[in-house]
This record gives sequence, structure tokens and C-alpha cells, in this order.
Amino acid sequence: MDDRPVIIVGAGLAGLRCAGLLGARGIPWLLLESQDGPGGRVRTDYVDGFQLDRGFQVLLTAYPQAKAALDYDALDLRAFEPGALVKLPTGFHRVSDPRRRPTSVLSTLRAPIGGLGDKLRVARLRRRLRRLSTEEVWRRPERTTREALAAYGFGTQMVERFWRPLLAGIQLDPSLTTSSRLFDFVVKMLAAGDNALPAAGIQAIPDQLAADLTGGRVRYGTTVVAVDADGVWLEDGEHVRGRHVVVATDGPTASRLVPQVPMAPSNPVRCLYFAAERTPLDEPILVLNGEGDGPVNNLCVPSVVAPGYAPAGVNLVSVTVLGAGGDPLAGDAATTGTGGHGTNQLESAVRDQLRRWFGRRVDTWRLLRRYDIAHAQPRQRPPALATPARSIEFDGVFCCGDHRDNASINGALQSGARTADAVAATTEA
Ligand SMILES: Cc1cc2nc3c(=O)[nH]c(=O)nc-3n(C[C@H](O)[C@H](O)[C@H](O)COP(=O)(O)OP(=O)(O)OC[C@H]3O[C@@H](n4cnc5c(N)ncnc54)[C@H](O)[C@@H]3O)c2cc1C
Repeated sequence: MDDRPVIIVGAGLAGLRCAGLLGARGIPWLLLESQDGPGGRVRTDYVDGFQLDRGFQVLLTAYPQAKAALDYDALDLRAFEPGALVKLPTGFHRVSDPRRRPTSVLSTLRAPIGGLGDKLRVARLRRRLRRLSTEEVWRRPERTTREALAAYGFGTQMVERFWRPLLAGIQLDPSLTTSSRLFDFVVKMLAAGDNALPAAGIQAIPDQLAADLTGGRVRYGTTVVAVDADGVWLEDGEHVRGRHVVVATDGPTASRLVPQVPMAPSNPVRCLYFAAERTPLDEPILVLNGEGDGPVNNLCVPSVVAPGYAPAGVNLVSVTVLGAGGDPLAGDAATTGTGGHGTNQLESAVRDQLRRWFGRRVDTWRLLRRYDIAHAQPRQRPPALATPARSIEFDGVFCCGDHRDNASINGALQSGARTADAVAATTEA
């Protein structure tokens, strides 16, 4: 009997899920991860009592793969208010889901964000997508999100003030050219559940998956530089042989390690964290920039959602800016994971904008850290999701990750599960 383990490269959500399911089937595995802990793009830095997620992101609790893989109670999930506050020149306007927040019907109807028809269309779309199964959603016609919004009948104001900042915050694609299949899926998930943060930071998700692993071993700080169907080579020249190899890295790295994997472009994002004595928001809600200018796309106060995000007496403000270094605002160096930067162009542009939103108190906010994430999500424009579950085997090497399914926590978990099934089928045959 072949007792070599299945080698999995990368302890992001896909690799962790794959390892977990192989272990549950009694198939030994060895997980090799270049970083010092699990999570990949889902990590949190714990700094001076703050929980700084490496880029703002949320778990949509309706994700079917997350429900299957995670113990939500143990994650102690804290939900955002459904809907959002949209910042316009006239102030902050609430757009909510009247079914879930009946008290917000009037404010939602009165908000100068699209006409009555648009608001009824949102309700109809949510209802229609909720009734479809997830599989049916992935079979709906594929076009760009912008084309889908037009086909659903939404007017320009509704798109520009609401859909663009909301979707840009989720898909990290302000051009609205991401596949409409991902749009339909996200709207279905938003309609069916909450957006939530684990009380201990987004890293609690991979930490839970890692803690539940059985039947194998994880080696952190171990970078794989080459792979073939029999094993992998490490930076120091060591060759590790395996019964199968699963490359569970991000898409760009997978394409380098396995040249047959098509290279998908990346959607980048930046996130700035500020410490504020007084919170600019007293409810756990997402603020969207509906004004169409300025660097800020969306903002929230994670410590109002989950108090553990900041030490007592202080608040944590999270600001998301789309795009990457290299644009005119990013004259300063990329600072992922480094300390505060007192003076730089992006920070001043963000402060200028937020001063118009919240007044001079913004000047007292202290920049804690800024994250520039060059590869936050694979760009998935049509026909990227024409086949929602793409091939995962390339000349005997398996590949999983969000780039093989779709750009989300759910997509990464699903890809890990699908790959575990394929590896098990080969191993047990
Ligand atoms: C800022 C941001 C916001 C997001 N917002 C959301 C959101 O709100 N909701 C949502 O559902 N999704 C969101 N996403 C997307 C989601 O986080 C990803 O789709 C998912 O985490 C991808 O997981 P993965 O396992 O496919 O890849 P990764 O997380 O990239 O894992 C790959 C792992 O491989 C390791 N690795 C790479 N190269 C090597 C090597 N050579 N040797 C060894 N190890 C290697 C990496 O260190 C990493 O740990 C967001 C992502 C980011 C970055």
C-alpha cells in the first residue's frame, strides 16, 4: 500500500478544506504553507489590542460551503445590519431590506437612490434569486454585471449610487464587468443571510479549519518552488514525494507552478485602519460612497460590529479603497503589514474625503496600518464562469483555490472540497 501523503501546497481556505476532507476519509496528507500560519488571504494581525483583518472582508452566513465546513456558533459571528448607508452630497441615506427591517421601509423608499421602480426591482430580484437553488443560480445566463443590471431594468442613478459601490466593495471591481453569475450568487446570499465578522477577527475562520484537521501534518514557513505529479521541491532544494500533489495557492502562483493553469488577472484593493476615540457610526452598518468621486469606496467600524476589534475606549475604523499602488493616488510605497504612515498622498486624500463626511474629528484619527493587496481576488469576467466549476487536474497535478471556482470564501471552500473528492476518487480507485 502507498503510504505517502497527499501533498497540499497552501493553507488558505481551499487547502485547509481539502486537507480536512482527506483526513476525514483516512487519506494521509502533508500541508506545506509559506506563511507562518493558516488563512492565506483570510488573516488578521493582532496589534496593540486591535484586530486588523488583512483587508476588510465579511462572511456571508448563507454561503452553503461555509455552513458545511464551519461551526458558526464557535466563531461567535457578529452580524452587520442588512443594507447600507449610502453617502450622497445630501447626507447619509439608508437602503435596507424591508422584509428583514420593516421599520426601515419609509427611509428606504424616501432615499434619493433610484426611483420607486428600482426599489421594487431590488425586492423582486432578491425574491426571485432566493427561490432558485444555488445550482440554478450558477446556470443563469452569463454576462457582465453591468449588462445584468441593465437587463433587470435598474436605472443609472440606482446603479451609480447603490449597486456600483456595493458590488465594487464585494467584487473589488468598480467597472462592473465581473460575471453576472457571481452577482446573482452574491445577491442570493445577501438575501438569505447576514454579513458577519467572527468576534475574534476573520482569521478565526481558517484557525477553526486548521484546529479541526486530522490525519496529517502542517509545515509552516515552507515555500514550494516547483511541482510535478510525484512531489514538490522546496526553496532549500529538498524534494518531498507524495502520492498526489494538490496546488492550493492563489491563482497567479498556481499558474507559475503549473503552467497549464490559465493565468487570471487580479483585482487589487487597499484598506486603511484608523483608531478613533469616538465612533463615526453608532450601528454595525456598511457605509457606501454613492458620490462617485474620492478614493473611499466603503467604510465601517468593525469594533461596533464586534467589540473585540478594538481595545476598550477606542474604535477601529476600516476604510476600503479600490485599485492598487501605481495609480496617481499611490505615490507612496506599498505598506502591507507595516506601521502607520503619517504623511502620504493616499492617507491625506482619504482624510479629506472623510472630513467632508464626518467633520474635523477625522483629524484626530490615528492611522494604525495600511494594507495594499495586489491579488485580493481573481478577476472573473465573462466567460470566466461559463463553466462555474473549472478543471482541477492538470497532467496529474491537482489544483484548487478560488480561481478554480469563484472569487469568494465560498468558492475557495467549494474548490477544496471538490478537489478532495477528486483526489479520493483516484486514491481509492
Ligand atoms: C481584501 C479582501 C477582501 C475580500 N472580501 C471578501 C468577502 O467579503 N467575502 C468573500 O467571500 N470573499 C472575499 N475575499 C476573497 C476570499 O478571501 C478569497 O477568495 C479566499 O480566501 C481565497 O482562498 P484560497 O484558499 O483560494 O487562496 P489563498 O487564501 O490565497 O491561499 C493560498 C495559500 O497558498 C500559500 N502559498 C502561495 N504560494 C505558496 C508556495 N509557493 N508554497 C507554499 N505556500 C504557498 C499562501 O501563503 C496562502 O496561504 C476577499 C479577499 C481579500 C484579499
